[in-house]
Amino acid sequence: MMARLDSLRARLEKEGVDALLVSAPENRHYLSGFTGSAGSLIITSREAVLATDFRYIEQAGQQAPDFRVVRTATGQGWFPTLLGEMAVRRLGFESQNVTVALHQDLLKALKESNQSDVSLIPTSNLVEELRSVKDPQELATLSRAVDIADRAFRRVAPTIRAGQTEREVAWRLEKAVRELGAEAVSFDTIVAAGPNAALPHHHPSDQPIREGQPIIIDMGALYQGYCSDLSRTLCLGEPDDTFRRVYDIVLGAQLTAIATVQQGMTGSDADGLARTVIEEAGYGESFGHSLGHGVGLAVHEHPGVGPNSTATLEEGMTFTIEPGIYLSGWGGVRIEDVVVLENGRARVLSKAPKRERVGG
Ligand code: ZN
Repeated sequence: MMARLDSLRARLEKEGVDALLVSAPENRHYLSGFTGSAGSLIITSREAVLATDFRYIEQAGQQAPDFRVVRTATGQGWFPTLLGEMAVRRLGFESQNVTVALHQDLLKALKESNQSDVSLIPTSNLVEELRSVKDPQELATLSRAVDIADRAFRRVAPTIRAGQTEREVAWRLEKAVRELGAEAVSFDTIVAAGPNAALPHHHPSDQPIREGQPIIIDMGALYQGYCSDLSRTLCLGEPDDTFRRVYDIVLGAQLTAIATVQQGMTGSDADGLARTVIEEAGYGESFGHSLGHGVGLAVHEHPGVGPNSTATLEEGMTFTIEPGIYLSGWGGVRIEDVVVLENGRARVLSKAPKRERVGG
């Protein structure tokens, strides 16, 4: 935790702020260890304060020993008092997390305590960029989350039969994720069969699954705060020609990206590795989402791995590689693994089986 605070402090100086108000829950957890659902951190070059309410005081003291815990009351009165004590003049805040309403409340609280000279300065991705590079302990925890989803998929996939509904299969997957040790699923499980698989974020329905249809499963486990994300596409019975062709193109695109992604590329470069394969096969228009996204304390986090992502991929970053092709009226294929950049290259963490080749 101290190393994380030191890295953040170096960034504060560069941003020209003398403190950062951390309000995003994953960032609060990452920097302090505190997992409660309410609270704010204020971090200066010398001090680290965790302000939270009555419900969390004891938990905060136990989980965040490097922080001074301050109890807040209703309203924002604690805020100017604390800034005054800490002699903060230029306070950075997390612009992706602070709402317009909270911003107004903070300004009002400063005004009411005659501290209108304190400036609130928007910052972007300061902690998110630190979070994107995982230390060995984080990687071990994330690997457990990946492993739980892999094992749940292995347990349930062979039991899927024609006539079962998408919703039933989703529930069995979620149950397996919990039974295998996850505290929760990391997002609502997607089971999308037939034409529903053409919708990348379909919500499981009561529609029965039929033979010969593509079935996209997208699932994840939450383990000690870390999220996994896994997609596989199956077919019961005999796949049609479209399935064979599309599956092989998507798998080829995914394996190409895994084999050739390198440290130092941008997220956009990485996206292009798979996109080129799909475009050359004539399905460019049918791959309408990004190749992937960072994954860790949040299921979607920095770095973006898409056509417009300028983030540089660095050693220790963990992200997904998940190309897909979606054909309206027929369905879709998506295959997704979590990878970590190690020695400049991708190492695949996901171990759930995927067919090496359907056609041929
Ligand atoms: Zn994903």
